[in-house]
Amino acid sequence: MSAEKKTLVIRNGTLIDGSGQAASRNDAIVIEGNRIKSVGALPPDIRLEDRGNVELLDAGGQWIMPGLIDAHCHMSYGYPAIKGEGKGKGTTRPEFSTLKSARSAQKVLRSGVTSISVPGGTWFTDVGVRDAIRLGLMEGPRMFTAGRMIITYGCIEDDEPSWEGTPDHAIGKLCNSADEMVTEVRRQHKHSVNFIKMADSRSGDSQMLAREEIAAVVAEAHRRDLPVAIHSRGAGSTRAAAEAGVDWIMHADLATDADLEAVAKGGMPILPTATFLGQVVELGQKVSPDQVQLDFTRMKRHFDLLCELMHKARKLGIKLLVGTDTGNNTFMRHGELHGKEMEIFVKYGGYTPMEAIVAATKGNAVAVGLQGQVGEIAPGKLADVIVLDADPLADITVLQGGKHLSWVIKDGRIVDLGPRDDLLTFRHAAE
Ligand SMILES: [Zn+2]
Repeated sequence: MSAEKKTLVIRNGTLIDGSGQAASRNDAIVIEGNRIKSVGALPPDIRLEDRGNVELLDAGGQWIMPGLIDAHCHMSYGYPAIKGEGKGKGTTRPEFSTLKSARSAQKVLRSGVTSISVPGGTWFTDVGVRDAIRLGLMEGPRMFTAGRMIITYGCIEDDEPSWEGTPDHAIGKLCNSADEMVTEVRRQHKHSVNFIKMADSRSGDSQMLAREEIAAVVAEAHRRDLPVAIHSRGAGSTRAAAEAGVDWIMHADLATDADLEAVAKGGMPILPTATFLGQVVELGQKVSPDQVQLDFTRMKRHFDLLCELMHKARKLGIKLLVGTDTGNNTFMRHGELHGKEMEIFVKYGGYTPMEAIVAATKGNAVAVGLQGQVGEIAPGKLADVIVLDADPLADITVLQGGKHLSWVIKDGRIVDLGPRDDLLTFRHAAE
């Protein structure tokens, strides 16, 4: 951060600090550089009238909380759909894909999401966008990103016939042996991914990744300090992932009670990701039927199982991460749905609004590699803060779509929110 940056002080308002403590009256939050310096009484050395060095935000009558973290957000495929390309999964042009990713990243941040975890995309697009944000070329959320998903024949994202394999614009990367997977982990590490994503079968009915393969990926990735996440709906893959020590498991809806006990013993969180399924169920017939993977009956079943899982996880002491799968399909638009998973946690998962907020802030920090660093408004934490004109504890849906945001602060800087109608307009090339 540059030396001329002013000290930022947020006064008044109601503070929801992300720790789970009850909301309380805010006196002063002081931000210096990209960190929170103090929370509470205004330190005597801060002179509010020194406008040359102090910028004051008055949040009177408003609600202050940590920036949201979406633990499951794709950037480089799925949206917008372009006629004749890639089955609606993306484009075959890396240049276009990168620009689209960059624009989507801006929309994500402007909706109050200050960090995202990106479990898979095309080429190394997401790595490039992450670095462009880091270097200040453009505004966007903190991005913690995987490369293409490590898969075998028959896994999700193995969409082409075997003689085509998985070209670079595919989200999956075929690796049909543990050796090939280890090589791919090394290749992705060389290209600076933040974590490794593996993916078992689409629906979890049969296990595609062998236990030895999962273990081999975990061993190699961990040796290189890369966490491993796995798309695993099934029982067998969930158990194997738990026993191999993956860092988080995505979905796990077909896991048996005994498998979930193995997850509890392994100590890793589950990222249910019910939003995408919830949208499919809600949108019903509006979604084009040629998108073959959208079998509504199956989606409804997964959705119901995930809601059950939320209750089971609490009993077993399994932590849940909060993510939406935004960007995985044409109707999962960036900037719109990142708060939806919290609504589902509250409506169907037995969470209080406060528990859902904590899960999507402090709790989600692990999914962006910043556990203990971000997601809380406390001295020493990274200064990612949002201010809302409505109370998210009274209505958790006010966190959706950025409609109630007064300010978004990321890394200690106030984000330009742009024109308010901009967030929801992103023309589909296909329309
Ligand atoms: Zn996904």
